[in-house]
Amino acid sequence: SLSEKLQDVFKKLRGKGKLTEKDIKDAMKEVKLALLEADVNYKVVKDFINTVTQKAVGEEVLESLTPAQQVIKIVYDEMVNLLGGNDTKLTFSPSGFSIYMMVGLQGSGKTTTAGKLAALLKKQGKKPLLIACDIYRPAAIKQLEVVAEKVGVSCYADYDKKDAVKIAVEGVNFAKSNRFDIAIVDTAGRLHINEELMNELVAIKSAIKPTEILLVLDAMTGQDAVNVAEAFNNQLGIDGIIMTKLDGDTRGGAALSVKAITGKPIKFAGMGEKMEDLEVFYPDRMASRILGMGDILTLIEKAQEAIDQKKAEELEKKLRSMQFTLEDFLDQLKQIKKMGPLSQIISMIPGIKLKGDVDFDAGEKELKKIEAIINSMTKEERQDPSIINSSRKRRIAMGSGTTVQDVNRLLKQFEDMKRMMKQFSNPSFAKKGKFKFP
Ligand code: GDP
Ligand code: MG
Repeated sequence: SLSEKLQDVFKKLRGKGKLTEKDIKDAMKEVKLALLEADVNYKVVKDFINTVTQKAVGEEVLESLTPAQQVIKIVYDEMVNLLGGNDTKLTFSPSGFSIYMMVGLQGSGKTTTAGKLAALLKKQGKKPLLIACDIYRPAAIKQLEVVAEKVGVSCYADYDKKDAVKIAVEGVNFAKSNRFDIAIVDTAGRLHINEELMNELVAIKSAIKPTEILLVLDAMTGQDAVNVAEAFNNQLGIDGIIMTKLDGDTRGGAALSVKAITGKPIKFAGMGEKMEDLEVFYPDRMASRILGMGDILTLIEKAQEAIDQKKAEELEKKLRSMQFTLEDFLDQLKQIKKMGPLSQIISMIPGIKLKGDVDFDAGEKELKKIEAIINSMTKEERQDPSIINSSRKRRIAMGSGTTVQDVNRLLKQFEDMKRMMKQFSNPSFAKKGKFKFP
């Protein structure tokens, strides 16, 4: 699969220490092939690879990441962009009454998705009304009614009327006058795009002025889905895409191409036939799913935020001259704490499974204790712990509400850490590759 192939590329990259331009270009060739095999649009792939290569070769060096991690992060960031960035939220009308018009080819999943969307919005406390405008097959109206009943929402239908535009308008009026706050209009599809279909949709659009037109696309149809999206966007104008059947054996190509080609984001993903199988679409989650890295990227980003670049440089200098003090130690602890609760940080590292008996609360408490102890020291003591004699220890323990043993333990931990950091700061140690990100 695409995910497996990309992971192979990254594994190879991780195995290298320093990356040359050729390493990066070779890796990008493989990424390109994997994307093309996944049926991603050729032009999209080309642009994607160009951007990533450019950024990866000319990248600024982030000290907290290894070269391979930096390349992976660039691929990830660009993939998030490709999938829609932050621009994927469903818009509600400021008037308090929103209309969503479902459009798409026959069999793409409009009726099913209309029901799923109603269920999702109902869960958010909204009161949606489904409106049946696929009047060409009586079975289609019935299908929407069945779906509505399944999710416990109302459905507006008119078996006698033979005018989809009129039904849409009446349905919307019914919704407004009956205190619904959302109307979801299910429309007819065709096997192929044709003028008759588009004319009807354009007429409905101008009659009801939907808050959003949502194009329902079948992910299984690959590149065709992208062509369909382009046509609907050009001829009708769409606001967002719902990609269905992503649970099936799709290669992902449509999802990765459609935003770049149409400029319109995917807003929801259909993940099955059941009414609860609709997910809000998050480009970052999708990208890490595709890149198969669990939440490692979240961890990398958190680490970057937390570790102030300048502080890291100062620390490095201090380590070189071995002037690392308890004050720096406290700083380090604060940086680690900024990353979030210990349990959360550790659970984000893929491949680490914790046994049940790890006591995180104890870890948090220990951190607080250490902070209290260091805070009770004088500036001189923090700079030079060797002056801390027994009477000073007693004073510090009193001031921090701890014991002399606690103070002793901390001082030993500090010496251990100093020794460990001295090793890390030794360039030959780093080169041997012993110090690697998990
Ligand atoms: P419409 O013609 O566009 O209204 O399409 P339908 O809503 O009738 O759906 C066509 C078929 O696709 C039905 O069998 C649905 O159950 C199925 N379907 C819709 N969405 C999904 C999805 O996300 N995953 C899967 N596996 N099947 C889906
Ligand atoms: Mg239908």
